Order: sequence, then structure tokens, then C-alpha cells
Amino acid sequence: MMTHKSRIMKEQSLDPENWHQMRKLGHQVIDDVIDLLCNIGHVPVWNEVPQEVKNTLSTDLPQFPTTANDVYVEFLRTILPYPKGNIHPRFFAWVQGGGTPLGAFADLLASAMNPNVTIGEHSAMYVDQQVVKWCKQLMGFPETSSGLLVSGGSMANITALTVARNHKAGYDVRTNGLYGSPAALVLYCSVETHSCVLKAAEILGLGKNSVRLIGVDKQYRIKIKDLEKQIQTDLKTGFSPFCVVATVGTVNTGAIDPLKSIRDICRTYQLWFHIDGAYGAPAKLTGSHKQRLRYIEDADSVAFDLHKWFQAPYEAGCVLIKDQEVHRAAFSFTPKYLMNEMEGLAGGLDPITNYGFELSRGFKALKVWMSFKEHGIKKITRQIVQNLRQAKHLGLLITRNPELELMAPISLSIVCYRFIRQGISQSEANALNRELLIKLQVSGIASPSSTILGGAYCIRVCILNHRTKTSDIELLVAQSIKIGYSISEAIK
Ligand SMILES: *Cc1c(COP(=O)(O)O)cnc(C)c1O
Repeated sequence: MMTHKSRIMKEQSLDPENWHQMRKLGHQVIDDVIDLLCNIGHVPVWNEVPQEVKNTLSTDLPQFPTTANDVYVEFLRTILPYPKGNIHPRFFAWVQGGGTPLGAFADLLASAMNPNVTIGEHSAMYVDQQVVKWCKQLMGFPETSSGLLVSGGSMANITALTVARNHKAGYDVRTNGLYGSPAALVLYCSVETHSCVLKAAEILGLGKNSVRLIGVDKQYRIKIKDLEKQIQTDLKTGFSPFCVVATVGTVNTGAIDPLKSIRDICRTYQLWFHIDGAYGAPAKLTGSHKQRLRYIEDADSVAFDLHKWFQAPYEAGCVLIKDQEVHRAAFSFTPKYLMNEMEGLAGGLDPITNYGFELSRGFKALKVWMSFKEHGIKKITRQIVQNLRQAKHLGLLITRNPELELMAPISLSIVCYRFIRQGISQSEANALNRELLIKLQVSGIASPSSTILGGAYCIRVCILNHRTKTSDIELLVAQSIKIGYSISEAIK
């Protein structure tokens, strides 16, 4: 029975009371987005978030309404002016994509439709399936393979490693957990492998000690002889090798592990061949890397990101598994409230939750679908080629300038360098280059990041942005030399 009080209470919803005003605000938002993106090259890459702004961003939970307009004005004042910077042409840190305008619109449309893309008979399921199919074509995986769109490379890797572990363990891991294991499962990768693989090993119950970190050669690629020796040692000493993770594009230097040799080792010892291609797998589409990366097609699974070189806005990554049944066997689960029907709303495709851990999934496929259609894969490939060329050009400028030193071979689009001066020690050089990097960032000129290679502090440039021009690269070099000199003058 309804109480008297609830009956007289006015019913509400969270939709606007004034749709006209909301429409106006929406138009303003789109105008501001276009202004932001078409002027992006003319503003500093980065500015520090002022303390006053940090304070306003740590206030208590709001109790009462504010108008949508006022909330938006606050966003314009406190959030928009202090970006990470990865949409800017001179953002070179980590491995980050730049996004696209239509990609941003797609996210708006996806949020407006707001489907949970897991189960059911509705268009988003088919868009998701379509994008996964395109991903298979990109990587040269057969149509019979399976795939899943996830938040990014980390989720893609842990999803593949879950399948690998369950399939290779030789007993029912889903029922017995790792307690059922007759021998400790171990996996192999190089010391340059992304930390998400180690995290995945921890979460999968294998533990960090089950990850055999193999050394690398001068080009930062896994040493094949050491890999094979370690596998043989483990077999002799009662361990159970199950998987090798090869990296296509390490985060430090962009190195590509020798895929063919790793594939052959996996065949010999019957190990799962997984590729972390979060950064570099898209280079498979380019003429210069097609040959070397065709062995991706031989992998049991591959992880790659759509929000990096494919320029989808965050977040979007993909994992492909060669054997669909093996993939499904690792995740399928049908509780009574998630039954698939032959027709109606609960009909349609195999529920996506049978292929991964997540039950709630946004419509991330839409931004990829729209972007691939808008540009076509040929143009997207040319974009990757352009970045590869820019990295080569940067390498050339560095080797031509006696003030700069190239610190690692360039395999993809990561370039590591430092400013050098005769007669200073390693630790002085490290301090100088650290200061140089900070000055580049704080001045808003460019945002590289850093790494340490062989004890030397390096400025690390990852060129992954479709907005980067050769002139941006040249500006970076000129400014590195200028700032480098001014710092080294001051310490004289
Ligand atoms: C970026 C990256 C990851 C992690 O991917 P996320 O999308 O950040 O989760 C893993 N491996 C490599 C080589 C990467 O470049």
C-alpha cells in the first residue's frame, strides 16, 4: 500500500525539466569541442594544475542541484585547461593515442544510447561483433578465431593469459584452482615486458616468481638461447612451462621480439604463444613491417590497443584468441538470470560475457566502427607510416647533432636520446637530462617522458599522434639543444 505521503510526492526523473536549455548547452559543448581540437597545436602541451583548482576538485559530495550550465562552466574553468596533453601534436610521453573528433562524437552517441553490450538482440551487439571481425582481419587471424573488445592492453593480456593458463594446465583449473596443479606453471617473457603481464601473473594466482624474465640483446629483444635454456632447466626441475609472451613494441624502446624463433620454441615445447602487441601490432599493416610481423598470425593469442595507434578515444583494446572453443571454455557461465533465448530481447548472438570477465560493457565498439568507416584502413595505415618516418627523421637529426646522443636503436616510433657534453660524469649527465626534460614539459613546448637505459637517464619520445608534423620533431630537437646548452652553461 502506498502511503499518503508518497502519493502526493511529485515524481521526478533525472532528465532536464527544460529540454530547450539542454539542447542549447549541447550545441555549446559541440562548439567548444571543435574549437579545442582545431586549435590544439597552438596551445601549450601541458600546464600544471594550480593548487586553487586542486582544492575545488576535492570538495564534499554535492547534496543539492546545480544547473547543468553552471556545472559545465565549472568544467570549462577547472578541468578543460589542465589536460594530460595527449591530444596535442607535441605530446611524446609513454604510449598514448590522440583520439579523433568523430571518435569523441561516437562516445557521446554511445552514451546516449547507453546499451550494456553483453547480451541480447540489439544493434550494438552486431557493431561489436563487426569490429571484432575487423580486428581479426587487421591481425590476419582466421574468421573462426574469437575476440573481445576490452578497456585496453592490460585487460587484453590478462584475458589471453587466463585462457592460456586454463588450456595448458592439463587439468580443470576452473574447478580446482591452482591447488589442483601437479607442478607450478611458469611463463616466459623478456625483462622489457610490460608490467601488466607481471600483474596478470599475480592476479591469476601464478605469482611473480612464475614469470621467468629472460635477458635481452643490444636491441632490447629477448635472447632466444637464454629462453630455451630456461625452459629446459624448468622442465628438468619439475616446473610446468605453459606460455611465452612475445612483445611487439616494448614500452621502453619499441623493440620487437623475434617472433618466428619464439613461435618455433612454442611449437617444440607445446607452449601457448601469446603476443603483447598493445603498442606495435598495428605496424603489421605497413610495408616496412609486414614481413617481420606476419608471425603474429601464428600466435595463439594477441593483445593490441585501439586507443593507441588506431586513435580511438580511451578506452578500447582488443584480444584475439585463435581457438574460439578454448576461449569460450575459459569464461562461459550461464546463471539463470542470463539465459539466451531463440527470439526476443534475450535472443541474438552468443552473450559476450562467455568470452571475458566483464558483465557490464559500454558501447566502445561504436567509436572504432565510426573511425574505421570514416578514414578507411588505408589512411589509418598511412598515419602509422608517417609516425614511423618521423621517428626515423628524429633519429637522423639526433645522430647529426654532436650535442645529442641516440640511446637505443629505433624499431618502431620510440626514440631515446640525451643531451651530452664532453667531460661530465654519468650522474651529471643524468641530472642535466632530467632537468632538460622537466624544462621541455613545464615550458609547454613538448612532452616526452623518460627512461633509464644502461644506467643513463634518457629522454624518451614516442611518436604516436596523427597530429604530429615533422616541424614538431624539428622544434623538439632545436629546443632540446637550446635548453641543454643553457643548463650546462649554468652548471659550469
Ligand atoms: C600500453 C601497453 C600495455 C598496456 O595497455 P593499456 O591499454 O595501457 O592497458 C601493455 N603492453 C604494452 C607493450 C603497451 O605499450
